[in-house]
Amino acid sequence: MAIILKGTPVVTAMNRETAARCQALIQQGVRPALAVVRVGAREDDLSYETGVIRRCEKVGVAVRRFLLPEDAPQAALEEVIARVNRDPALHGCLLFRPLPRHMDEAAVRAALCPAKDVDGVTDASLAGVFANTGAGFAPCTAQACLEILRHYQVPLSGARVTVVGRSLVVGKPAAMLLDRENATVTMCNSRTKNLPAVCREADVLVVAMGRRAAIGASCLRPGQIVVDVGIHVDAEGRLSGDVDFAAAEPVVEAITPVPGGVGTVTTSVLVRHVVEAAERLR
Ligand code: NAP
Repeated sequence: MAIILKGTPVVTAMNRETAARCQALIQQGVRPALAVVRVGAREDDLSYETGVIRRCEKVGVAVRRFLLPEDAPQAALEEVIARVNRDPALHGCLLFRPLPRHMDEAAVRAALCPAKDVDGVTDASLAGVFANTGAGFAPCTAQACLEILRHYQVPLSGARVTVVGRSLVVGKPAAMLLDRENATVTMCNSRTKNLPAVCREADVLVVAMGRRAAIGASCLRPGQIVVDVGIHVDAEGRLSGDVDFAAAEPVVEAITPVPGGVGTVTTSVLVRHVVEAAERLR
């Protein structure tokens, strides 16, 4: 039976530290604040937003929401971004994506001030992750994978790590953050030949491929640590991951659950980034 690497203990430890840093700022007269910018009202955006607001309230971070209708012109969104950039009382910005199809997402991302890019969406933040300069912020989900591995003291230096997926939101930045820990990282994509063999080679397997239960027993071996980033909702509203949990759990040494794993930690990373942005902008 595998050890279940639950997100809650990671979240508890992170929130305690973030709340203390937030209180220290408040005592100095700075209340860290997050701007939530949402166009339209997609179901999954709304539930993530509720979680973010709840987490912010818990640690003392203020939230200001900027809501636009689904058919808002791009100029209206760019004006909101400009207001967030200008406002010294706002330290971070969460911009929900994907944006509606009539908007140029790259242009909107580029308009955001990198110092307030707590979700790691600007090229400046990604450059910071890739060049390891400490500038900007890593995308929150990629950072959440690292937080879980660190919390459970999974050895990374010299470990063989396979990351399945290469998106700029999860796979690629996660691979870079793991490389920073001196892991030997292999990144897989949809053209990877013999994916099961590449996965079995890994000591640590991070799966962010967006395919429900795609990683089964043929990709796994005893002794592995598995981080499942995938989130899928079935017709009954049940959540599951990219890893076939029932097949994996009897085989591997440890695995993150879905729900209750990476997704739980992602919000805490975002809130910590807001506090860190406020510390940097002070
Ligand atoms: P994405 O943009 O669709 O990227 C998926 C990646 O997986 C791509 O690089 C793709 O390769 C690769 N891939 C697809 N099929 C593959 C295959 N058969 N073999 C190897 N690689 C394959 O997805 P994403 O945004 O990175 O998200 C990944 C998953 O994480 C999704 O389930 C998403 O819902 C979840 N997610 C969770 C959180 C959280 O907080 N827990 C946050 C964001 C996303 P190509 O590049 O070749 O197409």
